[in-house]
Amino acid sequence: MRAPVSDLPIRFENVTVAAGAVKMLDRITLTLAAGAPTILIGPNGSGKSTLLRAAMGLIAPSLGRVTWGERQDVPPTRRAIVFQRPTMLRRTAGANIRYALRASRIARAEQQGRIRELLALVGLEQLSDRPARRLSGGEQQRLALARALARDPVVLFLDEPTASLDPAATAAIEDIIRTVSGRGIKVVMATHDLGEARRLAGDIVMLHKGRAIETAPASAFFDTPQSGEARAFLAGELLV
Ligand code: ADP
Repeated sequence: MRAPVSDLPIRFENVTVAAGAVKMLDRITLTLAAGAPTILIGPNGSGKSTLLRAAMGLIAPSLGRVTWGERQDVPPTRRAIVFQRPTMLRRTAGANIRYALRASRIARAEQQGRIRELLALVGLEQLSDRPARRLSGGEQQRLALARALARDPVVLFLDEPTASLDPAATAAIEDIIRTVSGRGIKVVMATHDLGEARRLAGDIVMLHKGRAIETAPASAFFDTPQSGEARAFLAGELLV
């Protein structure tokens, strides 16, 4: 049997993603390695979502290259993404997870146990039979995380997963992210919430106008930002 090939690290080498004259990403070089969460921060339109989509292999660079575990052109299969506003199937919470388990070819006999486990992980074990679309926003987002984890990802991409949520629901999501990260799943998350970035980050990538302005361990980034843009962003003054 062949040893499993890791999808990590994900490396960006001089990656530009352009749509016409607009550079959504501009010569990005960075490494997303196993370990604590990497948090992408930057104002709206700075390129966070585009970087996530390129890291997932959903869009190809116009210039440069992205590699996954040293391979090019082979995006990771064990990956999942959760967006700001998840779309739930018109089924129960449990059935939404079952759908993802089937898509991942998990044997039927194992599905019920996995559903219970995943609902417990996100604190929704009492709501398994509730129609998913009748759950609150925070509950739907927790269900979206459970559904993503049903794919048994090596890397979990999160695109502003708490942006529509109140503080209590946000705290619940952040707890799940910490648990997931503690289990060895690499989390790569975009947020424009600096408090959240501080609470979760192992390292920070700050984007501005498609460029990676600063890449640093979180403590270094927040204590001693190196660039004018980072200092302005931390002071709430960098709006675009
Ligand atoms: P963020 O996630 O930080 O808000 P995005 O990655 O969504 O930023 O967007 C980066 C830039 O690319 C923005 O200027 C945005 O308007 C532009 N953009 C996003 N998607 C497209 C597209 N499909 N075609 C052209 N420009 C786009």
